[in-house]
Amino acid sequence: MIPAEFEYTAPESLDDAIRALVDAGEDAKLLAGGHSLIPLMKLRLAAPSLLVDLRKVPGLHGVERQNGAWRIGALTPHAVLEHSPDLGVTSMVAATIADPQVRHRGTIGGSLAHGDSASDLPAAMLITEAEVTLQGPNGQRSVAAADLFKDYMTTAVGDDEVLTEVRVPALDGWGCGHHKFNRRSEDWAMVGVCVVVKASGPTCEDIRIGLTSMGSVPSRATAAEAALRGQELSAENIAAAAELAADGTNPPADLNATADYKRHLARVLTRRAITDALSSTG
Ligand SMILES: Cc1cc2nc3c(=O)[nH]c(=O)nc-3n(C[C@H](O)[C@H](O)[C@H](O)COP(=O)(O)OP(=O)(O)OC[C@H]3O[C@@H](n4cnc5c(N)ncnc54)[C@H](O)[C@@H]3O)c2cc1C
Repeated sequence: MIPAEFEYTAPESLDDAIRALVDAGEDAKLLAGGHSLIPLMKLRLAAPSLLVDLRKVPGLHGVERQNGAWRIGALTPHAVLEHSPDLGVTSMVAATIADPQVRHRGTIGGSLAHGDSASDLPAAMLITEAEVTLQGPNGQRSVAAADLFKDYMTTAVGDDEVLTEVRVPALDGWGCGHHKFNRRSEDWAMVGVCVVVKASGPTCEDIRIGLTSMGSVPSRATAAEAALRGQELSAENIAAAAELAADGTNPPADLNATADYKRHLARVLTRRAITDALSSTG
């Protein structure tokens, strides 16, 4: 439970943080809330030679609305998202992450850069069609959430890049729902499903369904989405679409559940999350 020895620095600017990463090479790691990295270091599953702590870097905190989207600084903790209900599904999902201690320390940037397929925020970023900004020694680039998650704990964030902010489209007028299944209320998701839906009268104008823990990366239940788009949002149609929620997924079996049980959960939770999302549209 004691990490391997490492150097530590807490730069006061983004440029200095990037320079520290470049100088140290691939053995350096950024430190945000530390609630994923430090446990890995204590288990000796990670042994960075240098930790570059982002806590003194200005401009990486907060939630603000800009041109029809929410700009969320990378160091914004889950608890701030939880208490920002205007963020819709992002807020709803953040409220179910672990316990208050984890939600006050863990950050959205850390969660997305870490790329654990059991994390809750990545699926919400997929269905809101969010984008992240990455800043590195060669400048800035934007990456869509759909292109961010490459494999289990592997993302498009380069070794010398800092994820500085997340831009989440506001989705005004959409309904949202989220169901997370776990054995104890504060555990990681055995399976999670989040939904945003835009209804026009009784008809589904658009719907997006995000899946957590159903493969090596978060994903969208595209077959279920396609089955509902343009259709009446009746209980029968929702139930029929939810039956397609696990199509194309490859959930890992683990101590908690077989792959088949996770597929079953995905179908049940999808029906419940769509129903909740629809009720939230009023
Ligand atoms: C007991 C416990 C229960 C948990 N349960 C859940 C849960 O139910 N659901 C859930 O979603 N999460 C859960 N988590 C994880 C928690 O949400 C983490 O805080 C989060 O995944 C990582 O955020 P962090 O700020 O702590 O990142 P850190 O641990 O500091 O960093 C994680 C990784 O991301 C990199 N990184 C961090 N910030 C940046 C950045 N700005 N740019 C580029 N790279 C960066 C780091 O170098 C590191 O590789 C749990 C954690 C604990 C300890």
